[in-house]
Amino acid sequence: MKTTGYAAHSHDTPLVPYEYNCRQLREDDVAIEILYSGVCHSDLHTVKNDWGWTLYPSVPGHEIVGRVIAVGAKVTGYNKGDHVAVGCMVDSCQQCSQCHAGEEQFCEHGFTQTYNSPDPHTKEITKGGYAKNIVVREEFVLAVPAALDLAKTAPLLCAGITTYSPLRTWNVGPGSHVAVIGMGGLGHMAVKLAVAMGAHVTVVSRSAHKKADAEALGADAFLLSNDEHSMEQAASTFDLIVDTVPVKHDVTPYVPLLKIDGTLTLVGQVGPMAEMNTVPLVMGRRRIAASLIGGIAETQEMLDFCARMNILPEVEMITMEQINEAFERLERADVHYRFVIDMQKSTF
Ligand SMILES: [Zn+2]
Ligand SMILES: [Zn+2]
Repeated sequence: MKTTGYAAHSHDTPLVPYEYNCRQLREDDVAIEILYSGVCHSDLHTVKNDWGWTLYPSVPGHEIVGRVIAVGAKVTGYNKGDHVAVGCMVDSCQQCSQCHAGEEQFCEHGFTQTYNSPDPHTKEITKGGYAKNIVVREEFVLAVPAALDLAKTAPLLCAGITTYSPLRTWNVGPGSHVAVIGMGGLGHMAVKLAVAMGAHVTVVSRSAHKKADAEALGADAFLLSNDEHSMEQAASTFDLIVDTVPVKHDVTPYVPLLKIDGTLTLVGQVGPMAEMNTVPLVMGRRRIAASLIGGIAETQEMLDFCARMNILPEVEMITMEQINEAFERLERADVHYRFVIDMQKSTF
């Protein structure tokens, strides 16, 4: 099946329209017409080859919402016309202990990324959501609950699950005290999800002007990280800190905010971190951890939870033609809080 997407052909050229073939429908495949695609910071990192592993031409996008247009003979869960979603993974071995545990993101043989990954069968490089179509095996297709607004659902597939999974891993619920550092695509979802789970949620930021935004998202409190007095007063009060900062930084000032046995989990930065002082870790048996998206079953659980609790990201709709401008704004963190490409309003 022929389709059109937007691709980067090198690290320093803009994305341009690009025609290619989706793979032949296999018996366990679902063919999707993409309606909406979220714009994740990873897309920008990949296009610019910031991690050094980009395979050009690169069609990014791993926050995909669409409509089923065809199914393979052995597909049982989806029918033509269903609203479905695809996140960061499109395949894994399905045989190893991690796959059996529903943690495909930790597949012992490595999962296949939605874009920029060799397809395990055809060896072709996968192409993502900045396109009109995608073909994905059934096991990696999610059902979009009817209650969710389709236009706003896309960012749940990466930003949503990336923050939902650690909140579940560390048993956040009523009575939990959660802090969120960083108020971008990930941070704003962490706030909304933790509030919906019943936690007392504090946004930690170095800019006082973020206070109103934090309150608007439903946060219970705001902590100015460069105000030493407030930081001291907040010492030993949090069960979990979700650190969504997407660049190299020092976590040492935040660790004393954790209770004894509390955890700071990194979900934003992939790569080197600044040198830290272990004293506040040692003095409280505190932990620094990290988390990577979530499994397929947990992603479906997250979508169902968001539908039930009426949780949706704050989005700014764009067309495919505006993607290069959107990337420039994303680089300056000039978005509240996620761009979503509307494929039907795009003219490519
Ligand atoms: Zn992402
Ligand atoms: Zn596996």
